Amino acid sequence: MGSKGIEIVGMDVKEVIDLLNKAYADEWLAYYQYWLGAKVVKGPMKDAVITELTEHANDELRHADMVANRIIQLGGVPILQPKQWYDFTNCGYDAPENPFVEEILKQNIKGEQCAIDVYKSLIETTHMKDPVTYNLALQILEDEVEHEEDLQGLLEDLEILIKK
Ligand code: FE
Ligand code: FE
Ligand code: MG
Repeated sequence: MGSKGIEIVGMDVKEVIDLLNKAYADEWLAYYQYWLGAKVVKGPMKDAVITELTEHANDELRHADMVANRIIQLGGVPILQPKQWYDFTNCGYDAPENPFVEEILKQNIKGEQCAIDVYKSLIETTHMKDPVTYNLALQILEDEVEHEEDLQGLLEDLEILIKK
């Protein structure tokens, strides 16, 4: 950790680390939800959905990496125990118990909408106080907005297909 880099944070560093650890738990759970969803999904447009879910899984893992790096940079420790992901998560985990494409898409859209709220809130909390975390949250928010749009686009196409 760099001392000057921490000194410029104009808010409680512990609070930033806690918020980042909550987002970190979300990212791992989102990663697993997408990764497993891509394995079990069934139904029309399956191939297009698998491609998108797999891309998003990779993005969520990359977000977990970005968030962990920032936690460490601030002198914190990323959640060490996976079982603690459930204690910290904002958005939870939706098991893909019903593997039908429509249900998988809806679960993941709900997850993205939660992620958008989480990063929007982190942007507001760190605005003018912690520019590095602000910038990180902004970069991730851009991805989450794209994820929601991609999934809603697939759901629209699916609805056209199954209602014809
Ligand atoms: Fe993410
Ligand atoms: Fe996402
Ligand atoms: Mg996408």
